[in-house]
Amino acid sequence: MFKPKAIYYEKNILDYPLGKELMEKYKDVPKVEIENHNNIEEMRKKSNKEFIDMKRNLIIGVRKTHKFVENHKTSDYLVPYTSSGCTASCMYCYLVCNYNKCSYLRLFVNREQMLDKIIKTAEKSEKELTFEIGSNSDLVLENSITGNLVWTIENFKDTKKGKLTFPTKFDMVDDILPLNHKGKVTVRMSVNPDYIINRVEFGTSRLDNRIEAINKLSEAGYKVGILIAPVIMVENWKDLYLELIKILDSKLSKKVKKEAFFEIIFMTYSYVHTKINEEAFPNAINLYNKEIMRGGGRGKYRYKEEYKKDGELFLREQMNKYFPNNKIEYIV
Ligand code: SF4
Repeated sequence: MFKPKAIYYEKNILDYPLGKELMEKYKDVPKVEIENHNNIEEMRKKSNKEFIDMKRNLIIGVRKTHKFVENHKTSDYLVPYTSSGCTASCMYCYLVCNYNKCSYLRLFVNREQMLDKIIKTAEKSEKELTFEIGSNSDLVLENSITGNLVWTIENFKDTKKGKLTFPTKFDMVDDILPLNHKGKVTVRMSVNPDYIINRVEFGTSRLDNRIEAINKLSEAGYKVGILIAPVIMVENWKDLYLELIKILDSKLSKKVKKEAFFEIIFMTYSYVHTKINEEAFPNAINLYNKEIMRGGGRGKYRYKEEYKKDGELFLREQMNKYFPNNKIEYIV
């Protein structure tokens, strides 16, 4: 259970029920009042070395930006929702590209406003829309602090139109299992070999626990997907990922194997990651490999096309062998 070291909060969170609830829940935790969750000077001044320690804090504010971004993968829109950032510290976390070392967990208490916009957009649309609500944080993790996933599903289930989806690397799904979600929610579990989880995805759930969680979610009637992501080309990566596919084949339930779709994403890394990681995790493995990576614009690093093509071919072959009936939505 996450116990914050300190709470940094905007004063107007007390105008919202969730704001009051969180302040009561953490009444014994030291508090610092802030003007704006986007700009906490004390945090900005900290060094990269303090990255992990910064993530022990909890920032609570009101979300001001509500712009939906069109998406063409497993949803129609990416929606800014009830949190951004995370208490875990995956070394490649995409949120570091947006928030740099300030990718600590921020909670937004104006959830009624955010869900209302989703519901209205869904109902106005002629087409059935799917909203990705977990592109800025991990909602299963967040739910263990706020209960927001339970609240969201309960308040969304009776809408006339629309679907929700989110990815996760966490196994704390028991709270949402008994909910009457009416088939409107798809949970996508992100998996990686234990070797990678242990060395790169600090603070997330183990592979076996993630598999157990997705089996339980499927049993509870949720639509489920499996994200093999991000694929990281460490030295013996093909052996590791083949082993992962075999583990999925042997441990996923029959129901998941019948119904789940897959997404496969190769790692994108960046200059910002290298700088933070070398100071925050001096003994960790180095994810940047200049032999097989190229600059991808805006300080990003991606695997060179020839390595990625070879990787894609390899993964498609193995998936065809072990999961011939499951759709791979995309490999990027
Ligand atoms: S669990 Fe997701 S959001 Fe959290 S650090 Fe890892 S990649 Fe980032």
